[in-house]
Amino acid sequence: MIKRAILFGGKAIVSILDTTSTVKEAIKIHGFSKPVAVAMGKALTVAAFMSAGFKGVGNKLTLIIDGDGEGGKMVICGDFGAKVRGYIQNPKACEGRQASVSDVVGKNGSLNVIKDFGLKEPYNGLSQIVNGNIDEDFAYYFTTSEQLPSAVALGVKMQGGECVKAGGIVVQPMPNCSEEEIFILQDIVSNFTDVASLLSEKSVEEIMEFYFGHFEISHLPDIYEEYKCSCSRHRIEEMLLTLGKKEALEIIESQGQIQVGCEFCNTKYVFTKDDVQRMFK
Ligand SMILES: [Zn+2]
Repeated sequence: MIKRAILFGGKAIVSILDTTSTVKEAIKIHGFSKPVAVAMGKALTVAAFMSAGFKGVGNKLTLIIDGDGEGGKMVICGDFGAKVRGYIQNPKACEGRQASVSDVVGKNGSLNVIKDFGLKEPYNGLSQIVNGNIDEDFAYYFTTSEQLPSAVALGVKMQGGECVKAGGIVVQPMPNCSEEEIFILQDIVSNFTDVASLLSEKSVEEIMEFYFGHFEISHLPDIYEEYKCSCSRHRIEEMLLTLGKKEALEIIESQGQIQVGCEFCNTKYVFTKDDVQRMFK
């Protein structure tokens, strides 16, 4: 559930996200270690926030967080309507240890944001990892690459191997926001040190009302984010067609079949010799 509202007649946007079900689904698919679940949960929440702002059905987003942490590279995608998915190189990183998000992500590396609005060239924003906590890394990205000095507070609460709460609060002042209004917003955002616990106590509606309800506020329509993959047998077939018949048959010869796994949802697609013959007819 994503609740968004415009403050001060359009000078700032507040987004409050409860992404618990999405993070639970990601853990179910990938079997993340606890530290990775927190890191990926935060990254999926950012992707949900960013894709919630999309206006066109075909709009797409890819976040590549490539740090020197134990988790390795993280790839997160978001589609129109805050449909997100993602994977990490080492889903079991830091297993059984008390590790921080920055242990998983790393403290050095790059943050790449690709937004595809169906135009000739996709938007490509490159920034750097600040401290590997994801909150500050994206706050820095929004400020430097998108010129939107944003406050980003993300949280994932785990109990045992289970996610009990995940979500975030993002406040983005627009360029016409006055210094006094920014100061007021910063003061509010300083309360959000433990977003996951806050979301355990209050619903997104209650948080919006409690912290922002006394301002001049206009609510935007709710968005229901979810973990959703865009892969299909048809898409894999198209990929195999670009590989070429000779190459495809060679794989069949050596391995008996072609098996292609989707990294985002772990679905396995199997193609037999008959399938290949039919595809290339
Ligand atoms: Zn998939």
